[in-house]
Amino acid sequence: MSAQILEGNVYAAQIKAEVKAKVQIAKDTYKIIPGLTVIIVGENPASKVYVNNKHKACEELGISSEVVSLPETTTKEELLSEIDKLNKNTAVHGILVQLPLPQQISDYEAEILEAIDPKKDVDGFHPVNVGRLGIGKDSLVPCTPHGCIKMLEFAGISIEGKKAVIIGRSNIVGKPMFHLLLAKNATVTVCHSRTKDLADITREADILVAAIGKPRFVTSEMVKPGAVVIDVGINRIAEKKLVGDVDFDAVKEVAGAITPVPGGVGKLTIAMLLYNTLKAIELQYNINLG
Ligand code: NDP
Repeated sequence: MSAQILEGNVYAAQIKAEVKAKVQIAKDTYKIIPGLTVIIVGENPASKVYVNNKHKACEELGISSEVVSLPETTTKEELLSEIDKLNKNTAVHGILVQLPLPQQISDYEAEILEAIDPKKDVDGFHPVNVGRLGIGKDSLVPCTPHGCIKMLEFAGISIEGKKAVIIGRSNIVGKPMFHLLLAKNATVTVCHSRTKDLADITREADILVAAIGKPRFVTSEMVKPGAVVIDVGINRIAEKKLVGDVDFDAVKEVAGAITPVPGGVGKLTIAMLLYNTLKAIELQYNINLG
């Protein structure tokens, strides 16, 4: 039997509805107009598309959105000074520096991300947020893995007691996913490029998360019948063709539920950015927006 398809649009809409309600409470009860500022350095066309999509999503939900476009030649000092201004600006609740940075400052990426006030760090990449997630404290959590957890919750898929296997250990997906699944009481295994007998491990998974960056890497032989398969990968294999890290057509015949690519996890990421902007307000003002 074919798997349940977990459509990103459906769950993104549910996350956005939650955010919209919080925006209303922020405005009506606390007289706060939520504000997100995205800094983009240079002319990377893909980054411009992402930033534009974020801007549109903010407008849709009544979040005030500012885009600070800096020239390709921006120095580290100039960028740090811009971040400092935004840290001090009380109308700005969330700050995001769009990655990748141009070559001349890309070596300073960690320093630049650390300059963002942790309570405004809507990407959840600041070491303070990384650490707080690790010890189970309230924090701003990276959007993509957190979106996957929200999706499982909305889909009514229980996590507690399940065997979860993550392929990939990056700071933006694999590692935060580990902490999130562990916090939901799954038993979690993290695999990577040096993992031996990978398929033996993945076949044990009730929940399998693929965050590798290799087209159709996960085949049906690697999946336990009935497993929930979350495909985080986005791989461009032709001008207009995107595929995930999972061989969708074959795996959907084995899995119990699966996210498509495109149209799956990718749809959740922007919704979670808006979610984090409201979460940032809760942290900054020590309030609960419902
Ligand atoms: P990274 O390249 O940072 O990490 C990839 C991970 O996969 C690494 O941990 C690597 O292991 C592991 N890996 C690579 N090859 C193998 C292999 N043969 N066997 C097992 N593990 C392997 O990628 P990201 O985490 O940043 O992204 C992963 C994918 O998710 C990409 O396709 C990216 O485009 C997509 N993505 C999608 C988002 C969305 O919004 N949907 C957001 C972010 C990412 P090792 O550590 O040993 O090198």
